[in-house]
Amino acid sequence: MSPRWMSDLGLRSVINAVGPATRLGGLPLHPAVIDAMRDATAISVRIDELETAVGDRLADLLGVPGVYVTSGAAAALTLATATAMTGGDARAIDLLPDTRTLRNEVVVQMAHRDPYDRSITSTGARLVEIGYPTSTHPDELDRVIGPATAAVLWRPGRPGDLLDLAGTAEIAHRHGVPVIVDGALFIPPVDRLVAYFDDGADFVAASGGKGFRGPQGSGLLCAAGQQIAAAALHHQDMDERPATWSPPGASWYERSSPPRHGIGRQMKVGREQVIGLLAAIERYMGDPGADDRPGIAELEVIEAQLAAAACCPVEPRFDEALSVPTLELHVGVTRVDDVSRQLAAGSPRAVLGEGEAWRGVLTINPMALLPGDGVALADRIVAVLTGTGRS
Ligand SMILES: *Cc1c(COP(=O)(O)O)cnc(C)c1O
Repeated sequence: MSPRWMSDLGLRSVINAVGPATRLGGLPLHPAVIDAMRDATAISVRIDELETAVGDRLADLLGVPGVYVTSGAAAALTLATATAMTGGDARAIDLLPDTRTLRNEVVVQMAHRDPYDRSITSTGARLVEIGYPTSTHPDELDRVIGPATAAVLWRPGRPGDLLDLAGTAEIAHRHGVPVIVDGALFIPPVDRLVAYFDDGADFVAASGGKGFRGPQGSGLLCAAGQQIAAAALHHQDMDERPATWSPPGASWYERSSPPRHGIGRQMKVGREQVIGLLAAIERYMGDPGADDRPGIAELEVIEAQLAAAACCPVEPRFDEALSVPTLELHVGVTRVDDVSRQLAAGSPRAVLGEGEAWRGVLTINPMALLPGDGVALADRIVAVLTGTGRS
């Protein structure tokens, strides 16, 4: 059942009840996406032309100004930050991460801080915090923007009396500063992506491997064409000769001479990722959420089995960010880590969401569940919770 490389390498698979988690390999790809990646693999193309063509197609499909395929939302945040600091100026692009002579501050509400902030600061930009953990005042943004401000970072889904995107963009734009939205976890739905632009976003970062179910190493930077062209300069392989270099959209660049390998070169994407993401998004647009349904059926099996076993309170929930139903297992703060460790060590091996473990709750997300995982996971959870499964 499991492929030969697993035993060859001495590896054991896990039941992924976390969902699109990079540390567990992300979500399984639909065969149509794999077919597209296989078709892409033997054909040599200019990556800049491929990026431009796929970006134009995705921009039409999604209804946004422009798209650039990246290796993930984290890379898209890096490219957006780099672009906000340099524009299309090849001399400035060549400077990063030395930002001493550039606008190099990114303003962020304290409540919007996140471990992914390193995607911003790795460019050489500096974060400038405003507000407090649960509130920000408009004046606090207005006052802090100055000659060194390159961008304002905004994240959805944070509770508190915070600046919304429209209010943030209104103030930022009054100062001529762009707004970067980290939409990684929140896109799709596509309506939400479009709404970010309606509210004034200049750059939106989205994951390819979360709700779109594209390759785990893919993502999107959405922005206007000129920003996309500059982001491409930070990102693409620049082993080019000035005399023969003629990228698509060259007229946008402020200098005709190419920069050298930029800050984004370390985040390269292969043609398989670019074509795989296009195939995944075309599939998604045809029937949004269709590929979530098999996992949701497994989740229903788990809910029924756990209800019958009655070994801990189980609550059905809905994950607003990923737009899928989930289950919460209230195992209690005193044993939640022990239960997690037993599930991770046992047979089958399983990983549940630990985002709410601080309040004694483990979460089951259906997106990566395979046929049969429901029964196997429920059996294993019951064994651990009733003390009959200690291995
Ligand atoms: C997942 C996530 C990212 C990173 O997305 P990748 O596509 O894995 O690079 C960035 N920001 C937030 C808030 C996320 O949830």
